[in-house]
Amino acid sequence: MTRRFSGLALAASALLGLGGAVEVSAQAPAEKAPTVEEAKKFADDAEAALLKLWVDQSRIDWVKSTYITDDTLKLAAQAADKSIAAGVKYAKQATRYDKLTLPPETARKLKLLKLSLTLAAPSDPSESAELTQIAAAMEGAYGKGKYCPTKDKCLDLEDITRIMATSRDAKELLDVWAGWHAVGGPMKKDFVRYVELGNKGARELGFKDMGAMWRSKYDMTPEEFAAELDRLWEQVRPLYVSLHAYVRWKLREKYGDIVPASGPISAHLLGNMWAQTWDNVYPLVAPKGADPGYDLTAILKGRNTDPLQMVRYGEGFFSSLGFDPLPKTFWERSMFTKPKDREVVCHASAWDIDYVDDLRIKMCIDITAEDFTTIHHELGHNYYQRAYDKQPVLFRDSANDGFHEAVGDTIALSVTPEYLVRLGLLDKAPDTSKDIGLLLAKALEKVAFLPFGLMIDQYRWKVFSGEITPAEYNKVWWQLRLKYQGIAPATPRGEDGFDAAAKYHVAANVPYMRYFLADILQFQFHRALAKTAGCNGPLNRCSIYGNKEAGKKLNDMLAMGCSKPWPDALEAITGQRQMDATAIRDYFAPLQAWLDEQNKGKPVGW
Ligand SMILES: [Zn+2]
Repeated sequence: MTRRFSGLALAASALLGLGGAVEVSAQAPAEKAPTVEEAKKFADDAEAALLKLWVDQSRIDWVKSTYITDDTLKLAAQAADKSIAAGVKYAKQATRYDKLTLPPETARKLKLLKLSLTLAAPSDPSESAELTQIAAAMEGAYGKGKYCPTKDKCLDLEDITRIMATSRDAKELLDVWAGWHAVGGPMKKDFVRYVELGNKGARELGFKDMGAMWRSKYDMTPEEFAAELDRLWEQVRPLYVSLHAYVRWKLREKYGDIVPASGPISAHLLGNMWAQTWDNVYPLVAPKGADPGYDLTAILKGRNTDPLQMVRYGEGFFSSLGFDPLPKTFWERSMFTKPKDREVVCHASAWDIDYVDDLRIKMCIDITAEDFTTIHHELGHNYYQRAYDKQPVLFRDSANDGFHEAVGDTIALSVTPEYLVRLGLLDKAPDTSKDIGLLLAKALEKVAFLPFGLMIDQYRWKVFSGEITPAEYNKVWWQLRLKYQGIAPATPRGEDGFDAAAKYHVAANVPYMRYFLADILQFQFHRALAKTAGCNGPLNRCSIYGNKEAGKKLNDMLAMGCSKPWPDALEAITGQRQMDATAIRDYFAPLQAWLDEQNKGKPVGW
């Protein structure tokens, strides 16, 4: 398990819970019944052994990510295999203590050990090897995926992403959209087998199927968790539907009849391969006269801000909340700029190499408004990591997997015009009449994402449970995309294709619900902290910068790590024990009113 946190796209691809064969000794008839003392010792030993493996792996990963060569890639794969194999071993051994009544802390540690896997290999060695091989093959097929419009011209996903984001030629967009989706079909056979074997492994650990295993990570029953998600979606759906209606008629103005007046929007017209975020079509839907009146990128560049100063601004935000400055080693060991002489992974990420305070970020910082915000986000991860470093090893993680991303994004929500004024970067904040542009741009990113973030695993859970059979993989995928997103494919999709696997997280076995949760939670955190900071204005204008009381509340939650069920952590910061999507509604309330005005007399829904 690596604990390295970054943006939406990357996350924990290395969480593949795979490994060699493991003997399960729980049922051995001659064995004596285990004791509470043995369980405690087992948890302690597992923590010590895993910590060592994780730290080794972090170091190797860091070198690999900042110096990519054939050798470092191989070393990183070896280190990942080792910690994954150990994870599987301890997860299976932990089941030996299932029947004991344990002290809460030990019980939680054993539970976390069992839940740390995202894929459990069956104990049969040949099946285990087969699953390992299939999982690697699917991720590899995705990584190597290309679309070749002509014999001598091939586009990789990076090229295609650029076209999806910037092209306004509907024919070209459809061409690359369909071209990329062809990557899924050949994976279908492997995927069917992966589902069979993964379910078998999950059942050996005592779960009904792999989906139930994934849903068990949330301190409630899998059924309760699913119901919670439905409830959250119902809270936020009206906002999405208004946004969808507005974007649809604006795109219809641009593209004509290929965008229906009242049906679903074609999947290839929203600026993103999966129509998961729509901010790339902002220029097509921007309100008139909504320019915020300043350009942070130009301001930063005009002042000759360098990358180090960009990070200092981020640190300054946390210092203003009462957090200690970053350690000296952070400044010595981080990577802030792209080296000229070697290949690196530029995708921004935050690290805690020794699981104590060897904090680092890895970025190729450009002097832009976007990177200014990203730095605040990444440092959110670092301060979280340091806040829980006094916890036992297995509790050094976020309260649930949605929390880590949510904290980084919460901090980024405080990068408001008023904050820029406090830093002296802006003379005067624009008046709130300029807010619609800022809010719409943010909604195209955060609100548009919600139904997609929700449906990916709604789909996979049904696949794992057998409710969706291989004969209808594609049919139900598009039924769910229609139901939640109001999106439809522009070309007929048969069962020879497998469009779900044209999304990285499906091909690479990475659970997705954390992104939906993070999207909901960040607004809930922001609303609570803004209230603590005494901000009574519109939420999008609240920044907690400089407020020690809000800082303390944040720190109290961060320091808990995952030592307690997540509702306890949520309560520490918000006073609520339930996730609550009304915060996102509050944040976007001025936009909702504006959208409803724009949509008057126009069809809404699909
Ligand atoms: Zn992140």
